[in-house]
Amino acid sequence: MIIAVASGKGGTGKTLVATSLALSLENKKAVQLLDCDVEEPNSYIFLKPSFRYEETVSIPIPQLDGERCTYCGKCAEVCAYNAISVSPSNVLVFPELCHGCGACSYLCPENALTEINKEVGILETGWAEGIEFVEGKLTIGEIVAPHIIREVKKHINRERLSIIDVAPGTSCPVVEAVKGSDFCLLVTEPTPFGLNDLALAVDMVNKLNIPCGVVINRDGSGDSKVKEYCREEGIPILLRIPLDIDIARLYSQGITLVEGMPQWQEAFLKLYNDIEQVALQTKG
Ligand code: SF4
Ligand code: SF4
Repeated sequence: MIIAVASGKGGTGKTLVATSLALSLENKKAVQLLDCDVEEPNSYIFLKPSFRYEETVSIPIPQLDGERCTYCGKCAEVCAYNAISVSPSNVLVFPELCHGCGACSYLCPENALTEINKEVGILETGWAEGIEFVEGKLTIGEIVAPHIIREVKKHINRERLSIIDVAPGTSCPVVEAVKGSDFCLLVTEPTPFGLNDLALAVDMVNKLNIPCGVVINRDGSGDSKVKEYCREEGIPILLRIPLDIDIARLYSQGITLVEGMPQWQEAFLKLYNDIEQVALQTKG
């Protein structure tokens, strides 16, 4: 089963929920956590994995062979990202805009474009308390987060429970991380911003046809509009985490709820069982 843990808005405690859920399960060897928040991965702060393997992630970018080029302009026409510009006597490639799709070199009638690898990030794998941990990290300044996310998701093992920590928001990297999941857990807070961004996230998962449920963090603060929205939309609220100074302290120290307050393990186990039920009902 694949559970994506997402949030329309940043700072809602999504990573705290993802890591606490992973650590609450008894058979940790059957669990893997994939950090797909590749621009700012921070699950490792809570899980403290020992990394055993690191590999670079690259994309193929075009390199011009000026001897062969006729300056026909076909490569610039096909590039959806404006990463190639052709003038009557020159071809300019802008590597920082290139997404490595390969269309230009494939369509060049003169075979004047070869591909060279450009490093855009790294992938790290390791273990934390028996949980398999995979993390993607996009190099600062690079724009191809979805590419790194796809590399992280190649490590999904369908024999295990895969928990995906997704970036906040509803942009392309979020869609890339969430798609293909069996369930999406949306972590929010009871504020007008939380509600607005939750509604956007619900719209996204509905379009992806993925069942979802909500975790309300800092419950007891703000207003009741998130609860009313969930009731009206028929979205189950699966867990409420209260606004609590001790929880905030744990969060600031990078300690998960189930480690810092073991009494929460039962609540997270129930959360997992409820997710399973909702996902099964939706499939049935
Ligand atoms: S498509 Fe090939 S031949 Fe035409 S301008 Fe681009 S590199 Fe040159
Ligand atoms: S590989 Fe794709 S994105 Fe990069 S320059 Fe060629 S067409 Fe554009």
